[in-house]
Parts: sequence; structure tokens; C-alpha cells
Amino acid sequence: MDIQHNLLQIKSQLPKHVTLVAVSKTKPASDIMEAYNSGQRIFGENKIQEMAEKYEQLPKDIEWHMIGHVQRNKVKYMAHFVSLIHGVDNLKLLREIDKQAQKHNRTIKCLLQIKIAEEDSKFGMSPEDAASLLHDEAFHSLKHIAIVGVMGMATFTENETQIKTEFSNLKTTFEQLNAIHPMDIISMGMSGDYPLAIECGSTMVRVGSSIFGERNYL
Ligand SMILES: *Cc1c(COP(=O)(O)O)cnc(C)c1O
Repeated sequence: MDIQHNLLQIKSQLPKHVTLVAVSKTKPASDIMEAYNSGQRIFGENKIQEMAEKYEQLPKDIEWHMIGHVQRNKVKYMAHFVSLIHGVDNLKLLREIDKQAQKHNRTIKCLLQIKIAEEDSKFGMSPEDAASLLHDEAFHSLKHIAIVGVMGMATFTENETQIKTEFSNLKTTFEQLNAIHPMDIISMGMSGDYPLAIECGSTMVRVGSSIFGERNYL
């Protein structure tokens, strides 16, 4: 598996306005360093403890993105360094992120995770709940978080039409929320579907296995 080759290959296909998050979950620090040495600085992890360990070991100019589901009681382990949290789906969690960010005198950027997939297993808010959150005074009182966009995961299916519909729904939701609270990131697209996601308006893709190879476990 040639990480540098894969990375360059993918980067050459991305339009300038699309940011690549290299998803390094389950992969060793040596793999991350290989990507780092070819210029990659943004990495995504889905477990807070694993991300915090990697943060300790690796160069400090890496931007760490938390792309997985976030448990409130673990926010404190990443509040001092996390650069973007993709999976925010309720006000209580946002309050905890704000509280922990304040302790470190930081403002933590967050994306609202919107449920676009048919499957029940995927986390996320409805577009309506996201809109009410952005209208909520409780949200406006939080000074140490910044909502900068939305994130979504399409259904795991071979059906391209369905995936396209789900991505387009996220783009529409983004437009609606952007009218309430200005934001600029649409995080959608993974190894299997990122070209389609970009066609549908993605500005940030989260690509793991196409860079680092298949994972042995999740
Ligand atoms: C693992 C993961 C990815 C990357 O998946 P690949 O198919 O390996 O590219 C993207 N987003 C989230 C939320 C993930 O958990």
C-alpha cells in the first residue's frame, strides 16, 4: 500500500474548494507520518482516546478532526487540541464543548451532523431540529463554539441514485441553515462516494481506505 501515491492521486482529482480530511482511524502513527511527509496536515479520527494519543505522538501542526460520534463525557480529552468536530447533533453536547473550550480559552469549530441516510443506525439531527437549534437563544449564548457547517453520511448502498438524493438533501439543508446562521462547510463523501458528493456540493471529503488501505477492524 503506497500511501503517498494514493494521496497524490486523490488530491489531483479534488477541485480547489474541496478540503481533504485523511481518515487515519485504526492506522498507526507511521502511516500518518507517511501522509504528513507528502504534505497532508488534516487527519480524521472517530475515537477521542485514539486521536488524543496520536496528537501526543505526532507533529503539532496537524489539524485533528473528530469525525465520529461524540460522547459528552469525553469532550474534555480533546478540547485542548481538536480543530473541527464533525458529529455535533444536540444542544447538550454543544454546551459541553463550549464549557471545555472555555477552560482552554479556545473557540472550537463544529459541524452539525444531519441525518440524511435512510438507515436507523446513523446519528444526526433532522433539518428542522438543526434550524431550531440555530434559532435557540441558548445556542447564541455559547461563546466558545462556532458552527461552521454541516456533515452527513449517505446510506451504505450500491444505489447511486439514492446516494445522490441524500447528498442533495444535505446541500439543500445547508442552504437553509446558512440563511439562518452563515456557514461554509459541507462535509460529505468518503472513499466510496466522494466524487458523487463533490458533484452534489461537498466542500470537505473524509477519505480513509482509499489512502491508507482497508481497515482490519472498525
Ligand atoms: C471511517 C469514516 C470515514 C472514511 O471511510 P472510508 O470509506 O475508509 O473512506 C468517513 N467518515 C466517517 C464518519 C467515518 O467514520
